Amino acid sequence: MSTTTLSRPTGGATVTHLRCRECGETEPLAASHVCGFCFGPLEGVYDEDLVASRVSREGIQAGPASLWRYADLLPTLTDDPSVRVDLGTGWSPLRPAPRLAARLGLQDLWLKDDTRNPSGSFKDRVVSVAISAARALGIDTMACASTGNLAGAVSAHAAAVGMPAYVFVPASLEQAKILGAAVYGANVVAVDGTYDDVNRLCAELADREGWGFVNVNLRAFYAEGSKSIGFEIAEQLGWRLPDHVVAPIASGAMFVKIRKAFGELLQYGLVDGQLPTLNGAQATGCSPVATAYEAGTVDVTPQIPDTIARSLAIGNPADGYYALKVADETGGAIGHVSDDEVVRGMQLLAETEGIFAETAGGVTVANLARFVEEGRFGSGDRVVAVISGNGYKTLDAVADHLGPAFQVSPSLDDFQQQLADRTA
Ligand SMILES: *Cc1c(COP(=O)(O)O)cnc(C)c1O
Ligand SMILES: [Zn+2]
Repeated sequence: MSTTTLSRPTGGATVTHLRCRECGETEPLAASHVCGFCFGPLEGVYDEDLVASRVSREGIQAGPASLWRYADLLPTLTDDPSVRVDLGTGWSPLRPAPRLAARLGLQDLWLKDDTRNPSGSFKDRVVSVAISAARALGIDTMACASTGNLAGAVSAHAAAVGMPAYVFVPASLEQAKILGAAVYGANVVAVDGTYDDVNRLCAELADREGWGFVNVNLRAFYAEGSKSIGFEIAEQLGWRLPDHVVAPIASGAMFVKIRKAFGELLQYGLVDGQLPTLNGAQATGCSPVATAYEAGTVDVTPQIPDTIARSLAIGNPADGYYALKVADETGGAIGHVSDDEVVRGMQLLAETEGIFAETAGGVTVANLARFVEEGRFGSGDRVVAVISGNGYKTLDAVADHLGPAFQVSPSLDDFQQQLADRTA
């Protein structure tokens, strides 16, 4: 169902049209919600010869230190860089994690540190691509349905190019995430309901207002932004693929697109070798995809979320089915962990590697620990874990689990006494 159907912008972009992932029907590049024939999800289709003629390792390495170094592999709609919104999103560090590896019984563990994006989460990637597409399509107002991080990312990117933004969030959201959107001057709409209720409302609004809802009518562009994580992992490993990837799953879009990115790198000869296993991480309190995985089915039964990992709390995940297919195809698993394990995962990551991640990072680390325990990874295998959001957004999650601070009078004696007591 097309909302704002706009003609294809000019400018030599590599993406040519949209195609339904279910029935294969094609549509022009536009702010389209779903396939007009079967209501299936849409995805950008590229001129593969044009991409092949443009991409090379050297060309990419000479590009900007942001996800736009992969512009020819993204649905940019125009090759005019001035239309792109570049807040320096992406090209985040891929760090070796020897201390965490040793604790888990691994030898070659790497962390993709997406806590460092402009608004503190990987959502800056998908928004960079969606808002750039919106600008090329002539859309003048940005919006989204968010579990929190997306609201911040949309608000920041819209502010940077002077576009108004409306961000719809569940009213139960953490205060830090609401403030983290409002500070950019966005209109925050707190909806009395779950994320899935918010999403339904936004689908109705997208059909009416002609706004660019990044994860509704711009979803085909938005989702492709996640491929940049996969591109970066391979480039940062010296144009090599790891043996295993562990990534969190909310809607499942990021997970599926990391797989797609690896496939494209192989297709265009930028890497060779074998696809890694792709392993998904959920919290037990919202684990529809992991539950389907355990049951050996690709049919996802929706759940009502109840977990501290709010950024992953999508009970009816749009890409759940595709995520299950990717895990199956690559020989990966999809696991779930309790909220206590999530907190311990956050602490373990912070204490061993100096990275303070939000609850989603705890979900990833705790699931990684489980996968190692289950013997899914050989101890010498190269494993990359995606740490997708910053811990300062979810301080409350750890607040009750940390030891008390020293409380001292400004006296040497008092401090030394307490130090002795503590170390005794
Ligand atoms: C949204 C989000 C994810 C997962 O996103 P999907 O693509 O919907 O699966 C992971 N981590 C964080 C921090 C997020 O905000
Ligand atoms: Zn279709």
